[in-house]
Amino acid sequence: DLPLGPEVDVERPQLSFDDVGGMERVKEEIRMKIILPLRQPDLFRAYGKKIGGGILLYGPPGCGKTYLARATAGEVQAGFLSIGISDVLDMWIGQSEKNLHALFEQARAHRPCVLFFDEVDALGASRSDMLKSGGRQIINQFLSELDGVSASNEGVLILAATNTPWHLDPAFRRPGRFDRILFVPPPDQPARATILRLLLKGKPVTELDFDALAKKADGFSGADLKAVIDIAVEAKLRVAMTSGKIQPVTGADLLAAIKTHKPSTRDWFETA
Ligand code: ATP
Repeated sequence: DLPLGPEVDVERPQLSFDDVGGMERVKEEIRMKIILPLRQPDLFRAYGKKIGGGILLYGPPGCGKTYLARATAGEVQAGFLSIGISDVLDMWIGQSEKNLHALFEQARAHRPCVLFFDEVDALGASRSDMLKSGGRQIINQFLSELDGVSASNEGVLILAATNTPWHLDPAFRRPGRFDRILFVPPPDQPARATILRLLLKGKPVTELDFDALAKKADGFSGADLKAVIDIAVEAKLRVAMTSGKIQPVTGADLLAAIKTHKPSTRDWFETA
Protein backbone atom coordinates (compact mmCIF):
# COMPACT_ATOMS: atom_id res chain seq x y z
CA ASP A 1 0.00 0.00 0.00
CA LEU A 2 1.04 3.53 -0.70
CA PRO A 3 1.87 5.81 2.20
CA LEU A 4 -1.06 8.17 1.75
CA GLY A 5 -2.05 10.50 4.55
CA PRO A 6 -5.83 10.55 4.37
CA GLU A 7 -7.53 7.44 3.07
CA VAL A 8 -8.16 7.86 -0.63
CA ASP A 9 -10.11 5.03 -2.21
CA VAL A 10 -10.33 4.31 -5.90
CA GLU A 11 -14.03 4.43 -6.71
CA ARG A 12 -15.71 2.71 -9.64
CA PRO A 13 -18.51 5.15 -10.49
CA GLN A 14 -21.63 3.69 -12.07
CA LEU A 15 -22.65 7.09 -13.46
CA SER A 16 -22.50 8.06 -17.11
CA PHE A 17 -22.95 11.30 -19.04
CA ASP A 18 -26.65 10.46 -19.35
CA ASP A 19 -26.93 11.02 -15.61
CA VAL A 20 -25.65 14.56 -15.97
CA GLY A 21 -28.26 17.14 -16.97
CA GLY A 22 -27.32 19.82 -19.51
CA MET A 23 -23.63 20.70 -20.08
CA GLU A 24 -23.68 19.43 -23.66
CA ARG A 25 -20.72 21.57 -24.70
CA VAL A 26 -18.61 20.60 -21.70
CA LYS A 27 -19.38 16.91 -22.21
CA GLU A 28 -18.38 17.20 -25.87
CA GLU A 29 -15.05 18.82 -24.95
CA ILE A 30 -14.31 16.10 -22.40
CA ARG A 31 -15.17 13.45 -24.98
CA MET A 32 -12.81 14.96 -27.52
CA LYS A 33 -10.00 15.81 -25.17
CA ILE A 34 -9.81 12.78 -22.89
CA ILE A 35 -12.35 10.06 -23.66
CA LEU A 36 -11.70 9.51 -27.37
CA PRO A 37 -7.90 9.62 -27.05
CA LEU A 38 -8.21 6.91 -24.42
CA ARG A 39 -10.46 4.78 -26.61
CA GLN A 40 -8.72 5.32 -29.93
CA PRO A 41 -5.18 6.51 -29.29
CA ASP A 42 -3.95 5.35 -32.72
CA LEU A 43 -6.42 7.60 -34.51
CA PHE A 44 -5.29 10.60 -32.52
CA ARG A 45 -1.65 9.82 -33.17
CA ALA A 46 -2.32 9.39 -36.90
CA TYR A 47 -3.60 12.96 -37.06
CA GLY A 48 -0.69 14.19 -35.01
CA LYS A 49 -2.93 15.19 -32.13
CA LYS A 50 -1.16 15.23 -28.84
CA ILE A 51 -2.66 13.08 -26.12
CA GLY A 52 -2.46 14.18 -22.55
CA GLY A 53 -2.93 17.23 -20.44
CA GLY A 54 -5.71 17.91 -18.04
CA ILE A 55 -8.94 19.84 -18.02
CA LEU A 56 -9.75 22.57 -15.56
CA LEU A 57 -13.44 23.01 -14.81
CA TYR A 58 -14.61 26.24 -13.30
CA GLY A 59 -17.87 27.90 -12.42
CA PRO A 60 -20.26 28.53 -9.57
CA PRO A 61 -20.42 25.95 -6.77
CA GLY A 62 -22.92 23.12 -6.87
CA CYS A 63 -23.27 23.07 -10.67
CA GLY A 64 -21.89 19.58 -11.03
CA LYS A 65 -18.13 19.79 -11.52
CA THR A 66 -17.42 16.89 -9.17
CA TYR A 67 -20.44 15.03 -10.45
CA LEU A 68 -19.28 15.46 -14.05
CA ALA A 69 -15.77 14.24 -13.20
CA ARG A 70 -17.28 11.15 -11.57
CA ALA A 71 -19.49 10.58 -14.63
CA THR A 72 -16.42 10.91 -16.88
CA ALA A 73 -14.86 7.99 -15.03
CA GLY A 74 -18.12 6.05 -15.37
CA GLU A 75 -18.25 6.75 -19.12
CA VAL A 76 -14.95 4.95 -19.70
CA GLN A 77 -15.30 2.40 -16.87
CA ALA A 78 -12.28 3.97 -15.26
CA GLY A 79 -11.36 4.26 -11.63
CA PHE A 80 -12.01 7.55 -9.88
CA LEU A 81 -9.73 9.18 -7.34
CA SER A 82 -10.83 12.47 -5.85
CA ILE A 83 -9.02 14.76 -3.48
CA GLY A 84 -9.46 18.32 -2.26
CA ILE A 85 -6.33 20.41 -2.44
CA SER A 86 -6.98 21.69 1.07
CA ASP A 87 -6.61 18.08 2.25
CA VAL A 88 -3.27 17.89 0.52
CA LEU A 89 -2.16 21.07 2.23
CA ASP A 90 -3.69 20.65 5.69
CA MET A 91 -3.61 16.98 6.45
CA TRP A 92 -0.28 16.20 4.90
CA ILE A 93 1.74 19.02 6.38
CA GLY A 94 5.43 18.35 5.80
CA GLN A 95 4.60 15.38 3.58
CA SER A 96 2.60 17.05 0.85
CA GLU A 97 5.07 16.40 -1.96
CA LYS A 98 5.58 12.77 -1.10
CA ASN A 99 1.87 12.15 -0.78
CA LEU A 100 0.99 14.00 -3.93
CA HIS A 101 3.44 11.74 -5.75
CA ALA A 102 1.87 8.69 -4.08
CA LEU A 103 -1.55 9.85 -5.21
CA PHE A 104 -0.44 10.08 -8.85
CA GLU A 105 1.23 6.68 -8.49
CA GLN A 106 -2.01 5.24 -7.17
CA ALA A 107 -3.88 6.63 -10.19
CA ARG A 108 -1.19 5.23 -12.52
CA ALA A 109 -1.49 1.83 -10.87
CA HIS A 110 -5.24 1.83 -11.49
CA ARG A 111 -5.25 3.13 -15.05
CA PRO A 112 -7.52 3.92 -16.74
CA CYS A 113 -8.24 6.26 -13.90
CA VAL A 114 -9.70 9.73 -13.52
CA LEU A 115 -7.72 11.74 -11.00
CA PHE A 116 -9.84 14.64 -9.78
CA PHE A 117 -8.57 17.61 -7.79
CA ASP A 118 -11.12 19.87 -6.18
CA GLU A 119 -10.42 23.47 -5.09
CA VAL A 120 -7.19 23.74 -7.09
CA ASP A 121 -7.29 27.50 -6.60
CA ALA A 122 -5.78 26.70 -3.20
CA LEU A 123 -2.59 26.25 -5.22
CA GLY A 124 -2.47 29.95 -5.97
CA ALA A 125 1.04 31.08 -5.18
CA SER A 126 -0.29 34.26 -3.59
CA ARG A 127 -2.46 32.48 -1.09
CA SER A 128 -1.25 32.98 2.45
CA ASP A 129 -1.90 29.38 3.48
CA MET A 130 0.19 28.28 0.53
CA LEU A 131 3.13 30.41 1.57
CA LYS A 132 2.87 29.03 5.09
CA SER A 133 2.94 25.42 3.97
CA GLY A 134 6.03 25.75 1.79
CA GLY A 135 3.94 26.67 -1.22
CA ARG A 136 6.39 26.66 -4.09
CA GLN A 137 7.63 23.14 -3.45
CA ILE A 138 4.19 21.61 -3.59
CA ILE A 139 3.36 23.57 -6.74
CA ASN A 140 6.56 22.34 -8.38
CA GLN A 141 5.83 18.78 -7.36
CA PHE A 142 2.33 19.05 -8.79
CA LEU A 143 3.69 20.45 -12.07
CA SER A 144 6.24 17.69 -12.47
CA GLU A 145 3.60 15.04 -11.76
CA LEU A 146 1.36 16.63 -14.40
CA ASP A 147 4.27 16.67 -16.84
CA GLY A 148 4.81 12.98 -16.16
CA VAL A 149 8.41 13.54 -15.12
CA SER A 150 8.61 10.51 -12.84
CA ALA A 151 6.33 8.22 -14.84
CA SER A 152 4.00 8.36 -17.83
CA ASN A 153 0.48 9.57 -17.24
CA GLU A 154 -0.94 7.57 -20.14
CA GLY A 155 -4.38 6.34 -19.13
CA VAL A 156 -4.55 8.83 -16.28
CA LEU A 157 -7.23 11.43 -16.99
CA ILE A 158 -6.63 14.51 -14.96
CA LEU A 159 -9.49 16.83 -14.10
CA ALA A 160 -9.52 19.70 -11.65
CA ALA A 161 -12.16 22.08 -10.42
CA THR A 162 -12.26 25.54 -9.00
CA ASN A 163 -14.78 28.28 -8.30
CA THR A 164 -12.07 30.92 -8.71
CA PRO A 165 -9.75 30.02 -11.64
CA TRP A 166 -8.04 33.42 -11.51
CA HIS A 167 -6.36 32.41 -8.23
CA LEU A 168 -4.59 29.45 -9.81
CA ASP A 169 -0.88 29.78 -10.50
CA PRO A 170 -0.50 30.49 -14.27
CA ALA A 171 2.15 27.76 -14.60
CA PHE A 172 -0.70 25.23 -14.38
CA ARG A 173 -2.23 26.46 -17.59
CA ARG A 174 0.72 25.74 -19.87
CA PRO A 175 0.37 23.18 -22.70
CA GLY A 176 0.26 19.60 -21.49
CA ARG A 177 -0.96 20.71 -18.08
CA PHE A 178 -4.42 22.18 -17.54
CA ASP A 179 -4.41 23.49 -21.08
CA ARG A 180 -8.17 23.28 -21.53
CA ILE A 181 -10.31 25.44 -19.29
CA LEU A 182 -14.02 24.80 -19.40
CA PHE A 183 -16.78 26.84 -17.87
CA VAL A 184 -19.42 24.71 -16.17
CA PRO A 185 -22.40 27.01 -16.27
CA PRO A 186 -25.38 27.06 -13.98
CA PRO A 187 -28.04 24.86 -15.57
CA ASP A 188 -30.39 26.69 -17.96
CA GLN A 189 -34.12 25.98 -17.93
CA PRO A 190 -34.06 22.78 -20.03
CA ALA A 191 -31.05 21.54 -18.03
CA ARG A 192 -32.88 22.24 -14.76
CA ALA A 193 -35.89 20.27 -16.02
CA THR A 194 -33.58 17.38 -16.89
CA ILE A 195 -31.86 17.54 -13.50
CA LEU A 196 -35.22 17.57 -11.68
CA ARG A 197 -36.33 14.57 -13.72
CA LEU A 198 -33.08 12.72 -12.97
CA LEU A 199 -33.17 13.49 -9.27
CA LEU A 200 -36.83 12.46 -8.89
CA LYS A 201 -36.43 9.20 -10.80
CA GLY A 202 -37.84 6.30 -8.76
CA LYS A 203 -39.47 8.54 -6.14
CA PRO A 204 -43.26 8.57 -5.67
CA VAL A 205 -44.44 11.67 -7.57
CA THR A 206 -47.61 12.84 -9.25
CA GLU A 207 -47.50 13.83 -12.91
CA LEU A 208 -45.21 16.85 -12.98
CA ASP A 209 -44.75 19.79 -15.32
CA PHE A 210 -40.95 19.80 -15.23
CA ASP A 211 -40.62 22.78 -17.56
CA ALA A 212 -42.84 24.94 -15.38
CA LEU A 213 -40.93 23.92 -12.24
CA ALA A 214 -37.60 24.60 -13.93
CA LYS A 215 -38.83 28.03 -14.96
CA LYS A 216 -39.57 28.90 -11.33
CA ALA A 217 -36.09 27.78 -10.29
CA ASP A 218 -34.10 30.42 -12.13
CA GLY A 219 -30.55 30.75 -10.77
CA PHE A 220 -30.71 27.36 -9.02
CA SER A 221 -27.66 25.09 -9.24
CA GLY A 222 -27.92 21.32 -9.44
CA ALA A 223 -27.10 21.22 -5.74
CA ASP A 224 -29.90 23.74 -5.05
CA LEU A 225 -32.35 21.54 -6.94
CA LYS A 226 -31.21 18.58 -4.92
CA ALA A 227 -31.87 20.55 -1.73
CA VAL A 228 -35.32 21.56 -2.98
CA ILE A 229 -36.23 17.95 -3.62
CA ASP A 230 -34.98 16.95 -0.18
CA ILE A 231 -37.22 19.60 1.40
CA ALA A 232 -40.30 18.46 -0.54
CA VAL A 233 -39.61 14.78 0.06
CA GLU A 234 -39.10 15.29 3.78
CA ALA A 235 -42.36 17.19 4.10
CA LYS A 236 -44.21 14.35 2.36
CA LEU A 237 -42.40 11.74 4.41
CA ARG A 238 -43.58 13.42 7.60
CA VAL A 239 -47.20 13.28 6.40
CA ALA A 240 -46.74 9.67 5.34
CA MET A 241 -45.33 8.75 8.74
CA THR A 242 -48.44 9.95 10.57
CA SER A 243 -50.90 8.51 8.06
CA GLY A 244 -48.93 5.32 7.41
CA LYS A 245 -49.64 5.75 3.70
CA ILE A 246 -47.25 6.67 0.89
CA GLN A 247 -48.22 10.03 -0.57
CA PRO A 248 -46.69 11.16 -3.84
CA VAL A 249 -44.73 14.42 -4.00
CA THR A 250 -46.72 16.96 -6.00
CA GLY A 251 -45.84 19.96 -8.13
CA ALA A 252 -47.22 22.20 -5.38
CA ASP A 253 -44.83 20.58 -2.84
CA LEU A 254 -41.91 21.27 -5.14
CA LEU A 255 -43.01 24.83 -5.86
CA ALA A 256 -43.32 25.52 -2.15
CA ALA A 257 -39.82 24.15 -1.60
CA ILE A 258 -38.44 26.27 -4.46
CA LYS A 259 -39.90 29.36 -2.78
CA THR A 260 -38.11 28.62 0.51
CA HIS A 261 -34.72 28.10 -1.13
CA LYS A 262 -32.37 30.86 -2.22
CA PRO A 263 -30.71 30.31 -5.62
CA SER A 264 -26.98 30.13 -5.00
CA THR A 265 -25.45 30.84 -8.40
CA ARG A 266 -26.30 34.56 -8.52
CA ASP A 267 -23.91 35.39 -5.68
CA TRP A 268 -21.07 33.80 -7.60
CA PHE A 269 -21.65 36.00 -10.62
CA GLU A 270 -21.86 39.07 -8.44
CA THR A 271 -18.58 38.40 -6.66
CA ALA A 272 -16.78 36.76 -9.60
P1 ATP B 1 -18.51 22.51 -5.72
O1 ATP B 1 -17.96 23.59 -6.59
O2 ATP B 1 -19.20 23.02 -4.48
O3 ATP B 1 -17.60 21.35 -5.50
P2 ATP B 1 -19.73 21.15 -7.84
O4 ATP B 1 -19.88 22.08 -8.98
O5 ATP B 1 -18.61 20.19 -7.83
O6 ATP B 1 -19.75 21.98 -6.52
P3 ATP B 1 -21.34 18.90 -7.34
O7 ATP B 1 -20.87 18.64 -5.96
O8 ATP B 1 -20.84 18.06 -8.42
O9 ATP B 1 -21.11 20.42 -7.70
O10 ATP B 1 -22.95 18.90 -7.40
C1 ATP B 1 -23.69 18.72 -6.26
C2 ATP B 1 -24.82 17.73 -6.53
O11 ATP B 1 -25.82 18.36 -7.34
C3 ATP B 1 -24.40 16.49 -7.27
O12 ATP B 1 -24.03 15.45 -6.41
C4 ATP B 1 -25.65 16.12 -8.07
O13 ATP B 1 -26.50 15.31 -7.31
C5 ATP B 1 -26.34 17.44 -8.30
N1 ATP B 1 -26.06 17.98 -9.62
C6 ATP B 1 -25.37 19.11 -9.90
N2 ATP B 1 -25.33 19.34 -11.21
C7 ATP B 1 -26.00 18.33 -11.79
C8 ATP B 1 -26.32 18.01 -13.15
N3 ATP B 1 -25.93 18.77 -14.17
N4 ATP B 1 -27.04 16.90 -13.38
C9 ATP B 1 -27.45 16.11 -12.37
N5 ATP B 1 -27.19 16.37 -11.07
C10 ATP B 1 -26.49 17.47 -10.78
